[in-house]
Amino acid sequence: MNAEIIAVGSELLTPHRQDTNSLYLTEQLNDLGVEVRFKCIVGDDREGLTAAAKLAMRRSDIIIVSGGLGPTEDDLTREAVADALGLELRRDPEIAAKLEERFAKRGMKMSANNAKQADVLTSAAALPNSLGTAPGQWIGGKYDGQERLLMLLPGPPYEMKAMFEAECIPRLRARVPVQHIATRTFKMAMMPESQVDARVAPIYKTYTDVETTILAGAGEIQLHLRCRKDSQPEAEARVEELSEKIEDELADSIFSRKGETIEQIVSYLLQMRSMTLAVAESCTGGLLAERITSIGGSSRYFLGGAVVYSNELKTQFANVPKALIDQHGAVSREVASAMAEGIRKRCVSSYGVGITGVAGPGGGSEQKPVGLVYIALAGEEGTQVVERNFPGDRKRIRQFATQQALEMIRRALL
Ligand code: ATP
Ligand code: MG
Repeated sequence: MNAEIIAVGSELLTPHRQDTNSLYLTEQLNDLGVEVRFKCIVGDDREGLTAAAKLAMRRSDIIIVSGGLGPTEDDLTREAVADALGLELRRDPEIAAKLEERFAKRGMKMSANNAKQADVLTSAAALPNSLGTAPGQWIGGKYDGQERLLMLLPGPPYEMKAMFEAECIPRLRARVPVQHIATRTFKMAMMPESQVDARVAPIYKTYTDVETTILAGAGEIQLHLRCRKDSQPEAEARVEELSEKIEDELADSIFSRKGETIEQIVSYLLQMRSMTLAVAESCTGGLLAERITSIGGSSRYFLGGAVVYSNELKTQFANVPKALIDQHGAVSREVASAMAEGIRKRCVSSYGVGITGVAGPGGGSEQKPVGLVYIALAGEEGTQVVERNFPGDRKRIRQFATQQALEMIRRALL
């Protein structure tokens, strides 16, 4: 079965609000084995909403509308859906009485517009709203000869979630054929998406029953596998078989198999080896330290370090010889190395990291363009430096640089 989600609200068409309800609903539907095929956002516009509902009823088995169930002028979902389905609205006396009671309890008299929240589509079941006033609605039946399920849910995310869980999931479970889903997620750092795909596509293409999705971020690729079968063991076996082949191909480029972040993996590895870390950061301004310390318990392996933005502080806090900066420039292989070694020595840590580069948007030159970053890792075995030309804006370049540093630490600890 497939589904379509319609998010209603003019605010969702502005740059200020995002439709997050559909993300939650998609996750829940997927867990039930229902694929979301379409999503649509419509403003508080009766005709637009009627058209969207008609289209959805034609092409999707399950239609979920969220928002526009409140008492105000711009809450038009009930009316628009009634138009789309050619149904009438009837005022439910029981719901109307409950609304009155709710207001009376707070010592308020219910204004007339609130009463429309008691309007229910003929043939719909009203869904109680445990956290708000507007009830939801559930309709099942034939539309143009096709079996359809339609739900109207409130817009506020906490009301929508509570109602979906309590009222819709049990009803859906009874109607949606049971499906069993197995999933796996692999994460890789500092590998281009095209390279990952070139290596794994020949493998996953032979598994047409396993859906494979590649998601790319700054310095991180995620590979999601998903398989639906009639039984759980069958789905698991299929995903496991493909996973093993992918793991053989990508080997230690994979840093996570269970969704862990690279910070978490670095944390495990440092603790397992009883090693410590210190950082000297220039262009990342403390972002690496921030990422490392976002993990609870990081005090067990992270000693600290310094943000050494100026040349003077590179010398003062990270022992970088002034002559080295004069000779090679602050953004250089030599200075990155010296920062890593200097901070390691000053903090007496197992590993030291040095990062120096041009994050932009200004400050680049022909020899040292925006995006050029040197990342160094100093340890007992010596110092390695990587030179990278990262693409993107300041934020992305800084993210890439810290990702590269974490990947170097991870690989050193393998
Ligand atoms: P109310 O009685 O609060 O008016 P409603 O069912 O009419 O309920 P809306 O008016 O559409 O709901 O939305 C109420 C609030 O919920 C708004 O702040 C809105 O931004 C938020 N909201 C609505 N739809 C979504 C959505 N799809 N994702 C995230 N937030 C949403
Ligand atoms: Mg509203």
